[in-house]
Amino acid sequence: MVRLTLPAVQVADSFAPTPAGRLVVPGFALPAREVEIDELLVAKLLQAAKDAAERAYAPFSQFRVGAAVIMDNDPKNTIFTGANVENSSYGGTICAERTALTSAASAGFHRLRYLAVSVRDALHSPLCDRSPCGLCRQFMRQFCDPNAGNPSLIFVQDGAPDTMAQVFDIERLLPWGFHFNK
Ligand SMILES: [Zn+2]
Repeated sequence: MVRLTLPAVQVADSFAPTPAGRLVVPGFALPAREVEIDELLVAKLLQAAKDAAERAYAPFSQFRVGAAVIMDNDPKNTIFTGANVENSSYGGTICAERTALTSAASAGFHRLRYLAVSVRDALHSPLCDRSPCGLCRQFMRQFCDPNAGNPSLIFVQDGAPDTMAQVFDIERLLPWGFHFNK
């Protein structure tokens, strides 16, 4: 196990008065968060994500992505994997992250522990070329509990020789993520 601090974020509100009312840029505050990470499990997940990318069906983009997840309430630590699957009707395409999470949710698990994503064709590219799309971030948000003591963590594989992955909790990956409280 390794310990890591997710850094605090502190941004104040800012306002601009207009005749029609104020324009508001909402501030944002996240406390620093200590997390304990099972690095062997994460390495295994990243490898599973990388392997899954080999099975991507991406005839249009040739952009192959794999994902692997472990859910929090699964005593067997089952690894669910997924890859991006494209469609002639482009809107029918689904990303690797959602394929893996859909598989886990379909098996009855609804709280994410770790998600690893491996972008086979951009492993050595900047983070913005490898990180989950907005739709997937919102999809992940559904399975994350921001108030839990052990937060769900997302790992984005990095091809740099001395780096394993970038790590996020959902608040840092998706500020102001929508959540329906019924
Ligand atoms: Zn996506």
